[in-house]
Amino acid sequence: MSDIQIVDAPAGVEGVGFFATSLDKAIGVARANSLWPLPFATSCCGIEFMATMGSHYDLSRFGAERLSFSPRQADLLMVMGTISKKMGPVLRQVYLQMAEPRWVMAVGACASSGGIFDTYSVLQGIDEVIPVDVYVPGCPPRPEAIIDGFMAIQELVRTETLRRRSEPKYQALLAKYGIQ
Ligand code: SF4
Repeated sequence: MSDIQIVDAPAGVEGVGFFATSLDKAIGVARANSLWPLPFATSCCGIEFMATMGSHYDLSRFGAERLSFSPRQADLLMVMGTISKKMGPVLRQVYLQMAEPRWVMAVGACASSGGIFDTYSVLQGIDEVIPVDVYVPGCPPRPEAIIDGFMAIQELVRTETLRRRSEPKYQALLAKYGIQ
């Protein structure tokens, strides 16, 4: 479980007034427990996601039972499976159609790094086309690992300030991907 990697740990709230930080925290808790994931599943890792949503592992315990198949109504993009280079622009388009605040999880070796498919036709990680917040290792990751990654996203959502998305660091990250 400790293999989960969180990218871009949230900025602190030092120097911000008590009211603003308390409001930040309240909104962060509400957001973290009501995420609407968009599953972008292309192959075997998607099967593990189905198990994660089933009654045994039950991701709805974390407030995420409402899956969204419209990017405009999702705030967490979960990418699971092999992403070909031809599919890269489609994935990017889906990401761009999501409104801020939005987070991205790369689930499994293929989404994180291309996995075993070191070939001319496969993206060597979705971070070639979109920014990623949490990487979940495994081929495939078990549902417990997916839930661990989801909890890492929740921690990110819960603790980041509302201003993170307008911070120069985040803007620079988006600019790196050519996103305005
Ligand atoms: Fe399939 Fe493994 Fe790739 Fe997941 S990481 S999509 S299980 S080959």
